[in-house]
Amino acid sequence: MRILLVSPRGEFLGRSRAFADFLRNSREMRTILHYWNGLGAALPTIAALTPPEHNVSIVDENYQTLDLNQDADIVGISAMTQQAVRAYEIARAFRQRGVYVVLGGIHATVAPDEAVRNVDTVFMGEAEQTWPQFLRNFQEGAAKRVYRASDYGPVDMTTIPLPRYDLLSGTRYPVVWVQATRGCPHDCEFCTASQVYGRSYRHKSPAQIAAEIREVKRYWKSAQVGFADDNMFVNRRFVSTLLDEFETLPFTWYAQSDIGIAGDRELLRRLHQTGCRIIFVGLESVVEGNLVNLNGNKWKARRFARYGEHIRAIQESGIGVYASFIVGMDEDDHSVFDRTIDFVNQHHIMGAQVTILTPFPGSRLRQRLLDSGRITSSDWRLYTAWNLVVSHPILTHAEIEEGLLRIYRSIYSEESYRDRARYFRQVFQNLVSCG
Ligand code: SF4
Repeated sequence: MRILLVSPRGEFLGRSRAFADFLRNSREMRTILHYWNGLGAALPTIAALTPPEHNVSIVDENYQTLDLNQDADIVGISAMTQQAVRAYEIARAFRQRGVYVVLGGIHATVAPDEAVRNVDTVFMGEAEQTWPQFLRNFQEGAAKRVYRASDYGPVDMTTIPLPRYDLLSGTRYPVVWVQATRGCPHDCEFCTASQVYGRSYRHKSPAQIAAEIREVKRYWKSAQVGFADDNMFVNRRFVSTLLDEFETLPFTWYAQSDIGIAGDRELLRRLHQTGCRIIFVGLESVVEGNLVNLNGNKWKARRFARYGEHIRAIQESGIGVYASFIVGMDEDDHSVFDRTIDFVNQHHIMGAQVTILTPFPGSRLRQRLLDSGRITSSDWRLYTAWNLVVSHPILTHAEIEEGLLRIYRSIYSEESYRDRARYFRQVFQNLVSCG
């Protein structure tokens, strides 16, 4: 069979014209966005799970042109929520010509009833077990409408094959995202990570991950390696053996983690030593009240008072913190914008991603805001986390949009940039003089 796998074109920013103008004129923001996109592991992994007798190709619409008239027996689409509308357009075009279309990824997992109205088969959750089963069923003429990963149990990640990066080797990616682990124990109200992958923590073997990195470097020598894992360092014993493996690989990398790593100086030392240069950390808010109901055990609220100290510990290890904050949370008032600016500047945070509270389907937040009638739009094209799609108890739409822009203009101003550069020069001098 000819199987075409597609990553649909997505909207990744907001619709504010003022914000678009700012981006056009901000060198630092353009650089950040350049390195924020790139190639994910989902479709190359699906390709690797496809038996070799089939002919598989991948089109990433964010970097390539998709020919809607090309021949295929099956079109498989993977989409996040902001890509869903485009995914359905692609599905319509192929289905009109009688091509069988399937949809997986986060959006299909959390909105299966909608997805099943737009495609022939929907995959909910991890596809490592369901995709080969679907292919067998399809060839027998017995494909099901919905395949649920939960019917098969959690995937043993050590059995996942090497992703078929070769299928996209001709495309220039600034960053390639490798997936080493799945799951996050924290279950934050706005996040779907714990819903999609569960709260228990699983990982590939260190040798398997190293093989993926070698494969990435084989095709994209100058691309950055980012780890797509939502929270990479939860299991410290695993991380220790992974870093042993990384010591044999000359590469620089970045990852996402909760702030809990800050208390482990030896881990920070080894992360830096093995090439980790940036860690994305979800701090979520500079307003403590917003963190209190975020997760059942108040994990982030309990660390709030030491956020500054933790950031210093990570950055003084030679690893820049790229912090994410959300504005438009319930406890925010007019002061949240200046408080966020002050926090980022005061702690010399290397970079910050500030987004607007978004009730993604599948999140506990969405249910709460639906129950209180506060969701103002379910146009998925607006679900980039840069548009306001809910009503706020105090702030207006215009105040949130203008406040967000003010934050970006300030933290990415020439002056702030120079301050940060000075700070990091000092950090690196200290590291060199300490050996
Ligand atoms: S810590 Fe991060 S990945 Fe985990 S649930 Fe919270 S926001 Fe999601």
